[in-house]
Amino acid sequence: MSYEGQMLDDLRMPSKAAVETHLLTALLRHRGVVKEFAKDEDIVNELAGEFALSQQQRNATLERIYRKENRTVQSLLWLRLLFRAADNLAKLGLVSRPTATYKLSGKREWMLTEKGFDEALNLEGKQDLDKETLGVRSFEVQREVKVIISTPRPDSYDPVARDKRLITRASTSYFRSRGFRQAVIEAYDCKCAFCGFKLCSPDSLSWEVEAAHIVPNNFQGKDDIWNGLALCGIHHWAFDVGWLSLTPRFIIDVSSRVNSLSDKFAQIGKVDLIRMFGSKKTRMLLPTEKNLFPHETAIAWHRSNRFVA
Ligand SMILES: [Zn+2]
Repeated sequence: MSYEGQMLDDLRMPSKAAVETHLLTALLRHRGVVKEFAKDEDIVNELAGEFALSQQQRNATLERIYRKENRTVQSLLWLRLLFRAADNLAKLGLVSRPTATYKLSGKREWMLTEKGFDEALNLEGKQDLDKETLGVRSFEVQREVKVIISTPRPDSYDPVARDKRLITRASTSYFRSRGFRQAVIEAYDCKCAFCGFKLCSPDSLSWEVEAAHIVPNNFQGKDDIWNGLALCGIHHWAFDVGWLSLTPRFIIDVSSRVNSLSDKFAQIGKVDLIRMFGSKKTRMLLPTEKNLFPHETAIAWHRSNRFVA
């Protein structure tokens, strides 16, 4: 047995397989990404806590001697165990390595792949959850998000996909549609662009906010950030049916039909969820980057085709 193997045995450290399982489920809790392992990093202490590691187990140091180079390297045994587990998950295609993730996000992190996402949901008994509605990142979807947010905003933009051949393979459009949802929700900081409502589930896995298409899917609206808005469930519905729209200057516009609406409608307590925008010329919340703002051509389409002026 190797010196390291002997140490793992002597200290009764958890098995690599057990660490792999815990790491996968921790990735799910951390919304798909954890930082590279380093001493006192949250994820390192969190997993040590899950295994109830003693101070001795947490701090045991392995000394390796590189004779050729005439140097010794000390490293924490627990960090090496975590690294080896993550490395094996990467070999199995369940996580992406920090070098690959860095190219996407600029951060050195381990990230779930789609395969790892499925596996983690299985381990947690949550395989019935719809991945599309979860705020968990995966490498494949994040690759689409990068394309969506880094494509330069065109001056003249057609938000309608007129050429059906644009939709090629099913998996491409599946990742694109999930990438759209994630990119929109992140651009609006998980808030409704109209009322600012922000709420996640108790396990932090899913957000109430929805990624709305300005030109809807059933009108061949494209999965581009310029055709998207993050909206709460109520305002998404009200936007789709034409109670609400936007002016070219991003002011929320309310249908004049609202005047014929009974006081019994649209109210929760004292708040009227439609008329709240009518009188004050409320500007919608916009992403921090101008490149990600809704496009005026998409807004114009909505005013002409959906809004009940
Ligand atoms: Zn809202």
